[in-house]
Amino acid sequence: MFIKDDFIQGVLKETKTYTAAEVDRILQKALNKVELSYKDVATLLHVSDSEQMQKIYKAAGKIKKEIYGDRIVLFAPLYVSDFCVNNCSYCGYKRDNKFQRQRLSQKQIQEEVTLLEEMGHKRLALEAGEDPINCNIEYVLKAIDTIYSTYSKRGEIRRINVNIAATSVEDYKKLKGADIGTYILFQETYHKPTFERVHANSKKGDYNYHLTAFDRAMEAGLDDVGGGVLFGLADYKYEVLALMMHNLHLEKHYGVGFHTVSVPRLKKAEGMEINEFPHILDDKTFKKVVAILRLALPYTGLILSTRETPKMRKEVIEYGVSQISAGSCTGVNAYKASGSGGENKQFDVDDNRTVVEILKELVDSGHIPSYCTACYRQGRTGEKFAKMTKTGQIQNVCTPNALITFMEFVLNYGDRELLKKSEKLIDFKVKGMKNNELKKQTINCLEKLKNGKKDIFL
Ligand code: SAM
Repeated sequence: MFIKDDFIQGVLKETKTYTAAEVDRILQKALNKVELSYKDVATLLHVSDSEQMQKIYKAAGKIKKEIYGDRIVLFAPLYVSDFCVNNCSYCGYKRDNKFQRQRLSQKQIQEEVTLLEEMGHKRLALEAGEDPINCNIEYVLKAIDTIYSTYSKRGEIRRINVNIAATSVEDYKKLKGADIGTYILFQETYHKPTFERVHANSKKGDYNYHLTAFDRAMEAGLDDVGGGVLFGLADYKYEVLALMMHNLHLEKHYGVGFHTVSVPRLKKAEGMEINEFPHILDDKTFKKVVAILRLALPYTGLILSTRETPKMRKEVIEYGVSQISAGSCTGVNAYKASGSGGENKQFDVDDNRTVVEILKELVDSGHIPSYCTACYRQGRTGEKFAKMTKTGQIQNVCTPNALITFMEFVLNYGDRELLKKSEKLIDFKVKGMKNNELKKQTINCLEKLKNGKKDIFL
């Protein structure tokens, strides 16, 4: 298998002692956009000295700004089914938890989607527990179709990323046919003995099958895949090196690595206590992980959910995270049920602010909230997308599209305060655009939006 346990353990051991000069050399290498080696990343992972940590944050922040500019992509999760045949020790949906399981009917999906559209969302992550009978691929496909064809007065969902259990090439082909954005699957942990322990007596417990899910997805033509680790299950240093290894495996075999990596941290859920897990990350370590991932995988989007507090989210956006969820509920039918996550949520959330509140904070810190979904609609996926990011060409479309889609949001969903703040920010960012042709096109699109047009992008 492509996760080499001995190698990872060896590199971590070998790099335990290092000098400040070595850390500086590695950071300079990252800033020069030279790919970091396993040894480089392992060395950074061992850093604990606060002066050196500040240097890591600074370098990660610089890289982030150069590659992603000020854009932050927004999305929301939609839980369609909490039926689950697995008994994952960390999850509120585990088989042993006895509660009234639900699967949304197509009408309920329309209702949930309408609520999400009323919040201004354009991009969803469809979430479901694993259950081949109650939530089979045909149900998922129907749900996707219902989401794409649910239009509310002010908008519609334009991209659905899908986070469902590892499956077969045939099922992935069907997902490809349903026009999904990214196929997301968290490895949870790359550490095999831990993986097998936390997924004991579960369909999900087959380490190799889970690990090779993206190989099957790629074979099926799904070339935008999003990985992730549930931080808190095993040693974070091991997980970061293994994520790198997985990414390199995908690059080597399919010409493209992870489109995104998610960094969920383990949260309290029904039927588990946080202190049962010996590898829980404190805030300081979590920040370090985000910054090092930014340096190790500079061209991969980093996704942060509402599992984190507003304070933490604000901080890690500065040096790593490029996509965040907002206004999220983590239960089936939960948007309707009050927006509080309902009773049977998968785990607790720590950012309960409204979308508009989150956007105001982003704007105040100079970020452009982006509702862009253009890339996959324009066929810029997989290798093509990766090439554009590595050459910096992607900036030519991402910045204008972020400004345009954010203006669309503000005009349709913003309050007076957001409108005022945002017009100022958008104006400032447009003025700062160096390419005159792009500037002209962007101004033209912004004018069209003000005249009532919607869904425009470059
Ligand atoms: N059933 C699919 C699978 O097996 O991959 C989708 C998983 S679930 C809807 C989405 C993710 O929630 C999981 O992959 C897991 O990482 C995360 N999750 C589960 N329990 C959690 C907890 N207690 N705290 C934080 N995240 C959790």
